[in-house]
Amino acid sequence: MIDQQTFLRDAMRRLNLIRENFSERIGVHKRALDTWLLPETSGEYRAMPDIVSKFVNEILVKDAESHVNTQTVYSARSAAPLSTRIGHQGKPQLLSVDQFSRESVEDLMRIADVMQPIARRQKVSRILEGAVLANLFFEASTRTRISFGAAFCRLGGSVCDTTGFTFSSMTKGESVYDTSRVISGYVDALVVRHPEQGAVDEFARATNIPVINGGDGPGEHPSQAILDLYTIQREFSRLGKLIDGAHIVMVGDLKYGRTVHSLIKLLALYRRLKFTLIAPPTLEMPPYILERISGDGHVVEQSTSLAGGLKGADIVYATRIQKERFADEAIEGYAPEFQINQALIDANCDAGTIVMHPLPRDGRPAANDLSTDLNYDPRLAIFRQTDNGIPVRMAIFATLLGVENQVQHSMRDAGWRSPSHVGPDDAMFDGLDG
Ligand code: ASP
Repeated sequence: MIDQQTFLRDAMRRLNLIRENFSERIGVHKRALDTWLLPETSGEYRAMPDIVSKFVNEILVKDAESHVNTQTVYSARSAAPLSTRIGHQGKPQLLSVDQFSRESVEDLMRIADVMQPIARRQKVSRILEGAVLANLFFEASTRTRISFGAAFCRLGGSVCDTTGFTFSSMTKGESVYDTSRVISGYVDALVVRHPEQGAVDEFARATNIPVINGGDGPGEHPSQAILDLYTIQREFSRLGKLIDGAHIVMVGDLKYGRTVHSLIKLLALYRRLKFTLIAPPTLEMPPYILERISGDGHVVEQSTSLAGGLKGADIVYATRIQKERFADEAIEGYAPEFQINQALIDANCDAGTIVMHPLPRDGRPAANDLSTDLNYDPRLAIFRQTDNGIPVRMAIFATLLGVENQVQHSMRDAGWRSPSHVGPDDAMFDGLDG
């Protein structure tokens, strides 16, 4: 039996309803629903009566069967395991967001919800005890490498890390195929980051063990996009918004930024979105991605200036200029007119706008991608985003290694004490996550 919060969040996603409409549909006050949706550790948490969960289950079954309700976005819950549904060429590997449907990515988000008590250090699990992960990072990384490693450890597994080419036999001319096959004999899963687009696919071809793309040059960064979508979904749940119909603004280096390549494709699984893509000249979103998202009832507007583009935005997603990937682009520094800052957000956005960034933001004086003056603004979701990396990456491992349905039962209370807030400024954002 999954916990109450996970159950209700999943039901709302499946029915595609915001809290207000969902509470109406099940005939309860929204305030009661809000207390049922809180984590069990919250002082205001209330247990939902059994009769309500039975009723919600009935609605879910009826809704899946009926074609009358146009809000329904799923058919019937597929019986096949999630790893089979999202697999890559029959293997439990995650290389691209193209492997997802709306239903399967939402199923993964449900598993991430199950992981929350572990990510929040209230529970522990040893479900991956004995399993070993190799984190192979041939390019700089802080968040992705450490959070994949921490997620694996929090499920009871162990991690081997390799960073850079310098200490790898690839400097002796070893092929990707040989490297991948050799390491597959040592470990149970691989997370690979590589500066060349498509290189992680080569690692995946040479092995049958789970391989996860931790970023392949300017190609894709699927786990980042899933945690971004998960963050959007949680923020929207709090704000009473659906992803369908949302206005998403992406700003910065859209040509080389792999996070936006994956995120825009994932968001395109939803309906009638408006994308405003704002990039300096020569750094626009590649045409092959634009082609992929056209034709789904989405509106795409492109601009080379911020002015006007932010109006009505539900999400402002800023990115860093990927200078390390420049070929012949002649951009020097990052023009100040592209900076997302407090004055700009105040002038163009309302209280319901969320500001995101995959990080790192470039903190050097000439950089200007995302100003620190938004740090105390509750609309800035960057640390909620990074925190969400743990449950999402745990969900990816559990799914690819086939233990996603056992995690709930494997949980025990955590034995150590951790601070109520991990960041010194976090208290002021209480209640904003979800
Ligand atoms: N950390 C993200 C990535 O690896 C974003 C960035 O580096 O700008 O793609």
